[in-house]
Amino acid sequence: MSKLNGKVAVVTGASKGIGAGIARALAAEGAAIVVNYASSRTGADRVVSDIVASGGKAIAVKADLSKEPEVVALFARTTEAFGRLDILVNNAGIYQFAPIAEVTADLFHSQFNLNVLGLLLATREALKLMGERGGSIINISSGVSTITPPNASVYSATKAAVDAVTRSLAKELGSRKIRVNAINPGMIETEGTHSGGFIEGDMRKWIESTAPLGRIGTTDDISPTAVYLASDDSKYMTGETLMITGGLR
Ligand code: NAP
Repeated sequence: MSKLNGKVAVVTGASKGIGAGIARALAAEGAAIVVNYASSRTGADRVVSDIVASGGKAIAVKADLSKEPEVVALFARTTEAFGRLDILVNNAGIYQFAPIAEVTADLFHSQFNLNVLGLLLATREALKLMGERGGSIINISSGVSTITPPNASVYSATKAAVDAVTRSLAKELGSRKIRVNAINPGMIETEGTHSGGFIEGDMRKWIESTAPLGRIGTTDDISPTAVYLASDDSKYMTGETLMITGGLR
């Protein structure tokens, strides 16, 4: 039996990368998916058509999650299309590494406004749709929140904030049967890590020589854990931050 039959999930930033992988995996277990994107309409449409071609249900919804009215509109559209919400995957995020000498207010705000504020606003709106049945919120944090590599002070701080938000909300929402957990990936090969130059850079070599499993990850290394956290298989688990880093700490 499919684990998520009859459930509805919003996956933010699902037009590519980790979010697209999670959207496809949740759909394969029977969930109807809202595929959110900011600008990559083609990518979002491809994820939707793959899901529909496999017999699932999905719609693409454009919304810049760093902008409050667009966050509100994303969940209004979810209500209109599916009338309920069971799973929120807060995946949309950006990573801009920079040495401290190059940190600016803009660099700070662009990352915090999406990675932290966007996640909080999306969660606030999602909670209005999660009724007495409860739900599961999955925050895509990062291994950097505790590995704290150099030249990543701002990005690491956004993800340390996500870990704190995860633990705090787990305590706040447990009585409503809403579980809140985080996945903290190591370096994963995605469109974002390609365009950011990480895949060809020194960080990849460092991970391959240091991580116990000796390689960077793929989106398929992450999505089964999202299915687990979304489903009743993890029904007694909340407030956790799961490192999926090939053993790197
Ligand atoms: P990616 O390939 O760059 O994809 C990012 C996704 O987020 C895209 O769907 C993008 O939509 C969306 N997005 C960007 N800005 C947005 C905004 N303002 N509003 C709504 N959506 C927005 O990224 P990724 O590598 O898969 O990373 C996804 C998440 O995993 C991020 O939170 C990241 O911090 C975290 N993470 C990644 C890694 C890694 O190594 N890849 C490791 C640890 C944690 P458009 O394409 O439409 O712009």
